[in-house]
Amino acid sequence: MLKIMAVNAGSSSLKFKLFMMPGEEVITEGIVERIGWDDAYYTIVVNGDKIKEVLPIKNHSVAVRRLLDDLISRGILSDLSEINGVGHRIVQGGSYFPDSVLIDEDVVQKIDELAELAPLHNPAHLTGIKAFLEALPDVPNVAVFDTSFHQTMDEETYMYALPYEWFTKYKIRKYGAHGTSHKYVAMKAAQIVGRPLEELKIVTCHLGNGASIAAVKGGKCIDTSMGLTPLEGIPMGTRSGNIDPAVVGVISEAENLTAAEVVDILNKKSGYLGVSGVSNDSRDLEAGMAKGNRRCKLALDIQSKRIADYIGSYFIQLEGIDIIVFTAGIGENSSRCRRDVLNRLKVLGVEVDEEANNKQRQIVEITTKNSKVRAFVIPTNEELMIARDTVRIARLCEK
Ligand code: AMP
Repeated sequence: MLKIMAVNAGSSSLKFKLFMMPGEEVITEGIVERIGWDDAYYTIVVNGDKIKEVLPIKNHSVAVRRLLDDLISRGILSDLSEINGVGHRIVQGGSYFPDSVLIDEDVVQKIDELAELAPLHNPAHLTGIKAFLEALPDVPNVAVFDTSFHQTMDEETYMYALPYEWFTKYKIRKYGAHGTSHKYVAMKAAQIVGRPLEELKIVTCHLGNGASIAAVKGGKCIDTSMGLTPLEGIPMGTRSGNIDPAVVGVISEAENLTAAEVVDILNKKSGYLGVSGVSNDSRDLEAGMAKGNRRCKLALDIQSKRIADYIGSYFIQLEGIDIIVFTAGIGENSSRCRRDVLNRLKVLGVEVDEEANNKQRQIVEITTKNSKVRAFVIPTNEELMIARDTVRIARLCEK
């Protein structure tokens, strides 16, 4: 039996999930939020109960120390040496990492170097990695990259039609994101329909506050909607998704803003929030729409339309679609979003099963027997993928 910690460190947060492998049971999970504050939140689930404390947590090292001490004091572990491996989610692996990798000095340096492509994420992940290396120096740490699954895209897909030197000098290209989630739900879909992944053409829709779509052929990603950064693709909670890039110049002139300030608005004040003026949360927009708020409906319609447009494009690229998967916060919970998207795909022979689509929070097939494309809701599990990769990459089963 192996105990594996899956970690997702953000700039002021640290999410954790401790697994028993290979059985894949969750021993405990939780999150430290507001790291750096005197009133940080530490939340841990013990025997199904959520325990929340408010306490000062100066930095990620203190957060990790607090977590490890707590695992002992609550009797979840009797000794820290019981932790066999730690897996870290890393948003940007650039072209360096087509697979997860055991963390050493060179890997740390490359994650650091790639911070220029993911300035909010990679430095935060590094603080998490350093904190665990410091606290558990003898335990293997594995980096699992959001970008790895998308490394199989062809050059014609990942290259932008821009001056070629921007690629050679600055590594400007499409990298994608949410790869761990897309890979997990594609594998799960194959398992559910009882067919080899190698035979299947799957479109995976990861629709959360951040949202992306991937085209998966024979288990390999051939295209995805996010780009150099998570800003590209479909509109999201606060991100615009695709726009005419000339908007940046026009608005920077009109509002006397720098390009960076406009891009910040495209990232943080656009999408659902920008169009509706109400919220970045689709629950609020659905409530607004029910009360007749026109801009809430418009924001939701724009997103569904763009999702359907991507699926249509992937139908061509994949030369057909066997399965569409909906996952993440909106994909798993919003029957309205799923229905709206699938109804726009009638031309592909998609037929929604209304009753099944209204079921919540479970694996469910949401198309009828006659539908030419099968659609499923499959809850994502990125942490489990991280734990699996940690076992595989650190060769823990062989030890
Ligand atoms: P995630 O980023 O995957 O955690 O997804 C978070 C988003 O899921 C929230 O911002 C909401 O927009 C959406 N969401 C969660 N629950 C529901 C629900 N019951 N109906 C519609 N959207 C939901």
